[in-house]
Amino acid sequence: MRPWNFSAGPSALPLPVLEQAAAEMTDWHGSGMSVMEMSHRGKQFTQICAEAIADLRELLAIPDNFHVLFMQGGATAENAIVPMNLMGRNGAGKADYVLSGIWSGKSFKEAGRYGDAAVAASSETSLSTPEGLFDPWTWFPGVSEWVLRPDAAYVHVCTNETIGGVEFADWAALSALPQSDVPLVLDMSSHFLSRPIDFSRVGVVYAGAQKNAGPAGVTMVIIRDDLLDHALPICPSAFNYGAVARADSMLNTPPTYAIYIAGLVFKWLKQQGGVAGIQAVNEEKARLLYSYIDTSALYVSKVHPSVRSRMNAPFFLRNETLNAAFLQEAESAGLMQLKGHKSVGGMRASIYNAVPLQAVQALVSFMQDFERRHG
Ligand SMILES: *Cc1c(COP(=O)(O)O)cnc(C)c1O
Repeated sequence: MRPWNFSAGPSALPLPVLEQAAAEMTDWHGSGMSVMEMSHRGKQFTQICAEAIADLRELLAIPDNFHVLFMQGGATAENAIVPMNLMGRNGAGKADYVLSGIWSGKSFKEAGRYGDAAVAASSETSLSTPEGLFDPWTWFPGVSEWVLRPDAAYVHVCTNETIGGVEFADWAALSALPQSDVPLVLDMSSHFLSRPIDFSRVGVVYAGAQKNAGPAGVTMVIIRDDLLDHALPICPSAFNYGAVARADSMLNTPPTYAIYIAGLVFKWLKQQGGVAGIQAVNEEKARLLYSYIDTSALYVSKVHPSVRSRMNAPFFLRNETLNAAFLQEAESAGLMQLKGHKSVGGMRASIYNAVPLQAVQALVSFMQDFERRHG
């Protein structure tokens, strides 16, 4: 049996997807070619790409007035691509950023190179609540406290902070935001396709594929049509949303193999009952892990309970001298890549769509057993 993989990214892919890719590796559907060897402009790859887009549109119920783009450079490139394309939208050259952790911090910093980027709200301080005192980046700034400028070109939010394990939860408040013409730009890299998206207030959603949607190398961008053509003159053509959209994401050679694998992941997701089906499994997995951590005397979660990520669960051993033993014994038990991010420490279990309930059950029973022996 393969070990269970809790990597934060690049992360686990569904086994049936890997098996299908292996079976089709040297001869895709009788073509006598690997997908890697096909022209991106040929009939076969055009079909692969069109099916991937159609499946993604179906999975997320993407409205007709949005384009789906496949880009390169990861979410990190989008940190520059977004301001280069949108900041000039209304002449004010402004954008507002909600800071909720390391990834949104990077987005904000990059945006400042292209215009007037301001902090709308930030969780970089400690927060005292009835549930206790919470460290910086372990809670999410409430929507009602965001300071939004009416002439901002957009508001940027990272809805799942992969490193801190903080997931935005108040989607109802988002759709009720008053500045109705300021579009939201969401970095959903690490929970893309784990839950439905309400597009009513959204202008752009972007996500690197390698967390929850496929292999590294392709970035998914979902963008409202009226936002396509506002790029600053300095914007490279390959990063110009309008130009990429008009070229059907084939302005230059796209990452063909990554798009093919992402397409297989979309088909797999449809077999899991779509986004609603996988969302239910994700909630069950997160409930199982966090409820055990909360009753344990050895493990602790430091994230505010209302915003604990269902995808990335950082946790700590109260006795940190046991960290090395925990990781080593976990590996021997077939539980891989549980080490926390270096900026946070401790452990992190990333339990993306492709990590089944069975893997989380195995993790929790290992944690229980470890606690019995060392707690
Ligand atoms: C991983 C990640 C990024 C960076 O993605 P790259 O593909 O490495 O550029 C940005 N934002 C979030 C939320 C991420 O999880």
